[in-house]
Amino acid sequence: MSDLPKTELLFPAGNLEKLKYAFAYGADAVYAGVPMFSLRARENQFTWESLAEGVEYTRKLGKKIYFTANIYAHNMKLAPFMKAFEKMYALKPDAYIMSDPGLIGMVREQYPDAEIHLSVQANNTNWAQVKFWHEQVGITRVILSRELSLREIREIHEKVPQVEIEFFVHGAICMAYSGRCLLSNYLSNRDPNQGVCSHSCRWEYKVFHQENNTDDLYDETLQSGNYEPLKGEYFLTEEMHPDQYLPVDEDEYGTYIMNARDMCLLDCLQDLREAGVVSFKIEGRSKTINYLAGVGRAYRRTLDDLEAGRVPDLDAYSPDIFAISNRGYTPGFIRGNLAEKSIYYDKNDEYHEEDFVGIIREYDVNRGMARLEVKNRFDLGEHVKIVMPEGVLEYNIDTILSSKDDAPQPSAHGGAWDVWINIPHDPGPWAILRRKTRDVSKSKVD
Ligand code: SF4
Repeated sequence: MSDLPKTELLFPAGNLEKLKYAFAYGADAVYAGVPMFSLRARENQFTWESLAEGVEYTRKLGKKIYFTANIYAHNMKLAPFMKAFEKMYALKPDAYIMSDPGLIGMVREQYPDAEIHLSVQANNTNWAQVKFWHEQVGITRVILSRELSLREIREIHEKVPQVEIEFFVHGAICMAYSGRCLLSNYLSNRDPNQGVCSHSCRWEYKVFHQENNTDDLYDETLQSGNYEPLKGEYFLTEEMHPDQYLPVDEDEYGTYIMNARDMCLLDCLQDLREAGVVSFKIEGRSKTINYLAGVGRAYRRTLDDLEAGRVPDLDAYSPDIFAISNRGYTPGFIRGNLAEKSIYYDKNDEYHEEDFVGIIREYDVNRGMARLEVKNRFDLGEHVKIVMPEGVLEYNIDTILSSKDDAPQPSAHGGAWDVWINIPHDPGPWAILRRKTRDVSKSKVD
C-alpha cells in the first residue's frame, strides 16, 4: 500500500445522466455546473431540479459533488448570482468552485460556512497566491493553473501544505492561460470568462500575402479548387527568439496555428501525488458518455494500482484513452516548458481509434438481447466491444431487430434509432459498445 494520502478522481458531470456514468466508471467526486453561472454555460444541461437529484444520488453513493460557479461577473450579474447562490446553498454540495474575488467576498460574507475551492480560472500560479487565498479568504482547496511544472507544484505544496491541491490531468486545454482569453469575444462575441467560449483558437486561419506597392490583400486559398500546396516548409520566428522556429502548416482549408492538443498525464500520476496533488481533475462537461467511460477506465485503474503500491500497466490501460476523441495528446507544462508537440498545426479534426457504437439501455434476460441506443451506424456481423466499468468483452453482432416491431435489420443507424441486438450475457446497467474505427484516417494524430 502507498503511504501517500488517498487521491480523489474528479470527473465532469454535464448533466444528471453523465453524473451517474461518471460514478459508475470510477469517479470519487464530480463537478457540475449551476444553471447560468458556470463556465461551459452553453453545454450545461442541469436544471435546479436535476441538480438536486444529482446531489441526492451522490450522497447515496457516499461520494462528493462540487458546484461550478466560476464566471467573472460584470456588475449586472452580481445580484442575480447571489440570488442563485441561495438555491445552490440550499442544495448543500460539498464545495463551490469559484474564481471571481468579488463574488467570493460576497459569498464569504453571507455564507461564512460555505466551502469554496478556487477555480483554475483564477490562474493560481504561485505559493504566495495560494497562501493569500487561504489565510485571507479561508479557501481550503486550490485548483492550480495547468501552466505549472511539477517542480512548481511541489514547491507550492511544501510552502502551503495546509491547502489541498487539485490539478487537471486530462482534457482540452487553451492556448491562452486557461480561459483568460479574448479571441472568442473578438471573433464571435462570446466571452470565455462568462462560460460561452466558441473555441475560436481551434478554427482554421488563412494565410495572406501582401504584394509589394499595393494595399490589396488577397487570399490565395479562397477557392479550394484552385488551391496549390505551398512548396517547402514555413515557419514563424519571433524577433527576440530568432532560433525558435514555429511551424506553420497549411492545407486547402487554412492553417491551425493555435489548435492546442489535449492534455494527458496518465503516466505522471505518481509524480503528481508525490508533489502533493490530492485531486486529479478531468476536463469535459460537454463530452460524451463514451469519453467518461474511456477516461474513467484508464485513470481509475492506474490510480487504483498506484494506491495499492503496484506499477500500473499503462500499455493495457492507455488504449481506452486513444479510443476516445482527442486532438493528439501533450503533457502540457508538467515537465517544464511546453513540449514541442503541444499544438496540432495540421488540422482541427478530432481523432479516435474506436467508434462509439451506442449505449446499452436495457437487457432482456429471457431473449439474451439488449436494447441499444445507436450512436453510429453498424451492420450485421460486425465485431464490437462491450465496454463495462469492470472489463471489456468482444463479440460479433449476429442479430439486429427493430425496437418497434422486432423486424430483423441488416444494419442500424445513429440518430433516433433504438434496436435490439444479441449479447452473450447481461452486461449490467453502464455498458456501451465501441468498435475499431471505420475511418482509419481519423484514428491517429502524428
Ligand atoms: S478561444 Fe481557445 S484559448 Fe480562448 S478561451 Fe476559448 S478555448 Fe481557450
